[in-house]
Amino acid sequence: MSLGLNLDRRSLSVLGATGSVGSSTLDLVRRSRDQWHIVALTAHANVDALARLAREFQPEVAVIADERYLPQLRDALAGTGIETASGPGALIEAAARGADVTLAAIVGCAGLAPTMAAIEQGGVIALANKEALVSAGQVMTAAVHRHGATLLPVDSEHNAIFQCLAGSDLADVRWITLTASGGPFRDWSWERLAAATPAEAVRHPNWSMGAKISVDSATMFNKGLELIEAHHLFPVGLDKLRIIVHPQSIVHSMVEYRDGSTLAQLGPSDMRVPIASALAWPRRMDTPCDPLDLATIGELTFRQPDEERFPATRIAREAAQAGGAIPAVLNAANEIAVAAFLDGQIAFTQIAAHVADVLAAYAPPPPTCLSDILDIDGEARIRARLLTEGA
Ligand code: NDP
Repeated sequence: MSLGLNLDRRSLSVLGATGSVGSSTLDLVRRSRDQWHIVALTAHANVDALARLAREFQPEVAVIADERYLPQLRDALAGTGIETASGPGALIEAAARGADVTLAAIVGCAGLAPTMAAIEQGGVIALANKEALVSAGQVMTAAVHRHGATLLPVDSEHNAIFQCLAGSDLADVRWITLTASGGPFRDWSWERLAAATPAEAVRHPNWSMGAKISVDSATMFNKGLELIEAHHLFPVGLDKLRIIVHPQSIVHSMVEYRDGSTLAQLGPSDMRVPIASALAWPRRMDTPCDPLDLATIGELTFRQPDEERFPATRIAREAAQAGGAIPAVLNAANEIAVAAFLDGQIAFTQIAAHVADVLAAYAPPPPTCLSDILDIDGEARIRARLLTEGA
């Protein structure tokens, strides 16, 4: 397939450059520096890290979303020739400069508008920011088609499925199975879950990730969001999407075809593998990750998810079935509930309960454009905040 790209030197924007995925991406870029021209690097408030990365990678523009940090960013980059900007509008403008590849790695629905701006430029969008696709669903996939953009999944499960599908006919797919580590509380009782602390929730056994996705992994909302993400990326029908718990996080997902063949993608629990797959696509690139040593790992195990203790996957499946605005409501309510849990305002087990309560009370009509989604997201956040503040 030809994208008309020069695969020897390409331009790249990293939205969310200071985060876990952003750092892993730039680690790979650092190792193949000559092959990349950096257009934009962005962050929210971590101005020191952004300035450091900008000095190293020399982007055209560095954007700090929180406007209070612009003077500090300007001072830090004075004399470098790197443009500086701040605020949500500047994030969108930076994404709209266009790049051969845009790595969308902002956390939460905050990444939606910049990702849509990048999509409108028609390049490759390497998507880590699952909340954007969950919230925007068909509005985003329609924009991808309209603007001739290419959406490559960076989420390890979806990247695995993308690799296992390798252009196959979706009509030949019997099942797509998303694997889930089960998170740090996989074997905890309900009583123990109710007392789980933020520090315990962010301590993931296999992956090193940002705080929000770590909590999502502990509640299993991460897998619920991924189910909705998969529903949009690989439209085989919700009844063909399954989740299985695989504590070792070595098999990143699987596709079973109608002839009985199952293809799985395996690899270490290191985001640099799926990021490299998206950055180099349709080729391959080196990563510094250790080779997979299955003899040392010894055992790969699988089990059914427990939706009694972890209702998030059931709630997300129902939201995906309802479609329209409902996944955006789910996502917004979850973002607020996770922030409230991390702030010590609500208990771990209240996260799913609050999400379910917001979904039960708020069912707006389907969105038709970005501004509809942002309105729905905003209203769902207000309702979720009222619940968490009253908790
Ligand atoms: P982090 O919290 O580590 O990083 C988030 C990035 O987004 C940071 O650069 C942060 O800036 C920026 N950011 C946060 N809030 C805003 C905002 N309101 N406006 C603009 N920028 C903002 O998250 P992760 O890297 O863990 O995750 C990023 C995305 O990738 C998420 O959607 C997550 O679900 C997905 N993902 C992550 C994986 C992982 O292994 N970490 C795996 C698969 C998917 P600052 O540093 O200044 O706060």
